[in-house]
Amino acid sequence: MIALRHGSASDTGVVRTINQDCSLVEEPLFAVADGMGGHAAGEVASQVAVEALRRNAEPTADGLVHAIRVANRAVWEKSAAEPAMRGMGTTMCAIVVVPAALPGAEGADGSDTVVVANVGDSRVYLFHDAELEQITEDHSLVEDLVREGRLTAEEAKTHPQRNVVTRVLGIEEDVEVDSWQVVPYAGDRFLLCSDGLFNEVDEDTIAGVLRGHDDPSEAASELVRLANAGGGRDNTTVVVVDVVDDGGRAGTASAELGTRRSTTKSTSTPSPGPDGPTPDRTAPLAMGATEGAARPTDANRAAKRRPAHAAPKPRRLTWRVALFALAVLAVLGAAGGATTWFARSTYFVGVEGEEVAIFRGRPGGVLWLQPTLAERTDLELGDVPPARRGDVEAGKQEASLADARRYVERLETSGTTTTTAPVTTATAPTTTAPAPPDPGAAPATSTP
Ligand code: MG
Repeated sequence: MIALRHGSASDTGVVRTINQDCSLVEEPLFAVADGMGGHAAGEVASQVAVEALRRNAEPTADGLVHAIRVANRAVWEKSAAEPAMRGMGTTMCAIVVVPAALPGAEGADGSDTVVVANVGDSRVYLFHDAELEQITEDHSLVEDLVREGRLTAEEAKTHPQRNVVTRVLGIEEDVEVDSWQVVPYAGDRFLLCSDGLFNEVDEDTIAGVLRGHDDPSEAASELVRLANAGGGRDNTTVVVVDVVDDGGRAGTASAELGTRRSTTKSTSTPSPGPDGPTPDRTAPLAMGATEGAARPTDANRAAKRRPAHAAPKPRRLTWRVALFALAVLAVLGAAGGATTWFARSTYFVGVEGEEVAIFRGRPGGVLWLQPTLAERTDLELGDVPPARRGDVEAGKQEASLADARRYVERLETSGTTTTTAPVTTATAPTTTAPAPPDPGAAPATSTP
């Protein structure tokens, strides 16, 4: 018979105001449940489930699985009976020591074994030879995506929907339960925890704590403290169960390592109805506070009841998708049209080589739309009055081709006026001799 030592800790965390986790530490049975549902329903769900487990669990593999299914039925019935509790659910992970002498024990050497079972994303780890190994598999959306190869394990750690579970107690009449059998050795530590721990504390750190704190209560408290230090965004519950004596098995462990763990996963088959689990008839537990920070609603069988916001979206072209795509195309088309209009609706007078020319578009272009030569003129840049040359070189914008032509005509005219002006001015005094001489202009024109 193996000997155990255990400790546990639980905390509301630094964000939430009630603790919806619930744990069971009653050797040889240990469990962690993480309730979900608003208005204290999550707290009720985890308590109802743990109480049903406690009352019904037998120390066998089948007995543990059966008790978890009874717990599922208990939560489901309470949820159905009380509108305020509707939709509540809870995860559950549990371990029980199975004595070798009892039916169901399958220890490799005829000694005690440990049966591990879970529903949801609360986890059981085994710390053995200073290594941390996760035994349970999460029933969660991100784990499904990882298994399907659509998400890496690293991406799953920070995925915004990592709290969405796909199987949970209390949502349907019956539930599938996964279970494993583990051959325990002295020095092994079983860690049961809610997701408040591993979402805040990485597994290397968890392993370090288990390595550094011999006392299971101290280790549990330190892990909860680290979860809060890491953010404490969820309730955190930790149960540490140490195998302090394995009845001499460790002495021959090296020869048995190949069979040390028959961790073959078993999955119960739901069979609601007359042959289903016996409903637990325990009296309803007292309600706690009235607030619950609900996690996203869960579903036991993803295909049947996975909440819409949690489901991987089927990649089908529905009419909504088609409408959305059309709307996007329309917006893009309108934006493109507006840009083209803006870029091409105007003309400017600029320079082509040494000649003045009229271009369609905007000087320098707009995005990918470059101006194009509309027509050449007979005017050379050198003939443009110096005061206008800068404008022309930069591109003098006009609203239309006609306006641009008129501007060119004005340039030609003013260019002519300017170049002939000195002649006109020079002849002015002689042709207008009767006029009184301009003192300022006189020296240039009248002295000769
Ligand atoms: Mg949680």
